Amino acid sequence: MIQTIGILGGGQLGRMMCMAAKSMGYTVVVLDPEANCPAGQVADEIIIENYDNINACQLLYNICDVVTYEFENIPLQTAFFFENKLPQTSRLLQITQDRILEKQIIQSFGLKTAPYCVILESNDMLLFAKRFYNSPNKIFIKTVRGGYDGKGQFVIENIDEFDNFLNNVYQTNYSYVIEDAVDFTHELSVIVCRNINGEKKVFPVTENIHRNQVLYKSIAPARIDESLSNQIESLALKFAEDLKLVGTLSIELFLCGNEIIVNELAPRPHNSGHYTLNACLTSQFEQHVRAICALPLGDVNQIMPCVMLNVFGEDMHFLNRTKISKHKLYLYGKSESRLGRKMGHINILDNNIESCLQIADKIL
Ligand code: AMP
Repeated sequence: MIQTIGILGGGQLGRMMCMAAKSMGYTVVVLDPEANCPAGQVADEIIIENYDNINACQLLYNICDVVTYEFENIPLQTAFFFENKLPQTSRLLQITQDRILEKQIIQSFGLKTAPYCVILESNDMLLFAKRFYNSPNKIFIKTVRGGYDGKGQFVIENIDEFDNFLNNVYQTNYSYVIEDAVDFTHELSVIVCRNINGEKKVFPVTENIHRNQVLYKSIAPARIDESLSNQIESLALKFAEDLKLVGTLSIELFLCGNEIIVNELAPRPHNSGHYTLNACLTSQFEQHVRAICALPLGDVNQIMPCVMLNVFGEDMHFLNRTKISKHKLYLYGKSESRLGRKMGHINILDNNIESCLQIADKIL
């Protein structure tokens, strides 16, 4: 029987996973290089070491019955080390750590990605230039590895920005993908969980609004046709089955009219799924724990409409002035508040989305 869960990574997703696991009676041990990390504050135990430290990994392996990760940039060697206690397996990590492989997998499922080309290490500035000049719109340059939350990503709108990228940012020892900007009507995401026994459930689709490529607001359920939501949920269930997912897969999408384009996959709970903490019978974090611990999955029905707002470093001073009811505040216990750093989030719940959005406008 599973009693102790190990989490690789101690950020806010790990913290909320940990809280879900604790409320289900599990013991949780976190591995993270930072002593006061958000998950370490609520875990039973924290091992403070780098993810590639073999002694730390061995210790975690010995203590835990099952291991999971809370972000996709865990070194693959570490995932291999834990393989027989990692129900998620290392495969999805391998895919999602490499934007080229990820796009190939998405296309192999018959789905569209943004038009893109690849610049492999070391060469070819000319290719960059060609793509930039031939693109009808702005372009997104993304590092093939190591990017998340808008990091490792550069939006190029004009020749000055392009020059600046080539002269000050471009590194010949990195590979990049260059994507044409997608002229979307909506950005959406969908989160699906599957347990070891093959049971799978998908949460309602959310609509996401970004600022500077970072998620700022999620609206759940998304304000799109029911038939499209159903289509996206079926697509997520198919992904989960075809990939033999165990755990959680989050899929980020662009909607262009009725056309669905897949932007990115994340093999873990997702920022846009924080609404499930209050708006669904089972949260994405509880579902993830259930999935990796071979428990039956919980009900994913949404009980109330919800708008989630991220709270960034620059928003912290608003919080003690907020006297609005119908919301739940979550802070992640980060001691240092910086511009653009995710410090917490707010779930606003009301009878309809319009009124949630009005409350959201008043809060920040
Ligand atoms: P990503 O890190 O790839 O999820 O990108 C972060 C955000 O940047 C996305 O959620 C979009 O808002 C924006 N973005 C990224 N790639 C594109 C693209 N090809 N076209 C339009 N917007 C994009």
